Amino acid sequence: MNLREFNRRTITALLIAFMALSLSGCKGQIKVDPKNPYGLEIINTLEEYSKSVEADSSNLLVDLEKYIPGVVLDIRYATENNFTGKKIYTAPKAWLRRDAADSLLKVQQILAQEGLGIKVFDAYRPYAGTLYFYKVYGDTTFVAAPWKGSIHNRGGAVDLTLIDLATGEELAMPTPFDEFSKRASYHYTELPQEVLSNRDRLLKVMTENGFTPYEFEWWHFNIKGRERYSLLDISFEDLEKIK
Ligand SMILES: [Zn+2]
Repeated sequence: MNLREFNRRTITALLIAFMALSLSGCKGQIKVDPKNPYGLEIINTLEEYSKSVEADSSNLLVDLEKYIPGVVLDIRYATENNFTGKKIYTAPKAWLRRDAADSLLKVQQILAQEGLGIKVFDAYRPYAGTLYFYKVYGDTTFVAAPWKGSIHNRGGAVDLTLIDLATGEELAMPTPFDEFSKRASYHYTELPQEVLSNRDRLLKVMTENGFTPYEFEWWHFNIKGRERYSLLDISFEDLEKIK
């Protein structure tokens, strides 16, 4: 952690403490919700989520396995094979807001014409996951700042790679998923031509179909207009309950 990062975190912590103190009227104890320590606006009940979908159907989270037939999932956070070394999700599920899922469906159809497919590593992530990631790995280049929340928490981001449909093999990319190194960045170009062209293929098909890239992670894409989606902290199990 460099000095600037340290200062930023200290200032953030002080601000939060100050805000909590003001809210508590300096009388009682400072109450910080451990599930929402930064006091963000988060939808964390099924009831609230259902209301938001009733008000605007584009808030619906859809199950990618059902929505995109043939999509390959490798949900690393549902296994111990991820940077935390721990199982974060209780089920290997991938959910996205409907518009993002529509765009991804289009991506898959375009790629299929070239014999390529998509493998999804992560999509919607409950906010609790973002809090935990930051505790394990405090570099906000690679891990979303919990005081803002991640686009994954909004159901508007997807981590993915390309596969060869005939073999199911992943195409060669600059790094494995979640390798937090400079090689994961689009600015890194000291790579074999094949790798560069695979990375470009993914970038092109995603950006032509409604997504924007994240410069430091070749695998991460955000849907355009993502700001309109609320942060969510709803478990996969609860999402399954909605029919
Ligand atoms: Zn991501």
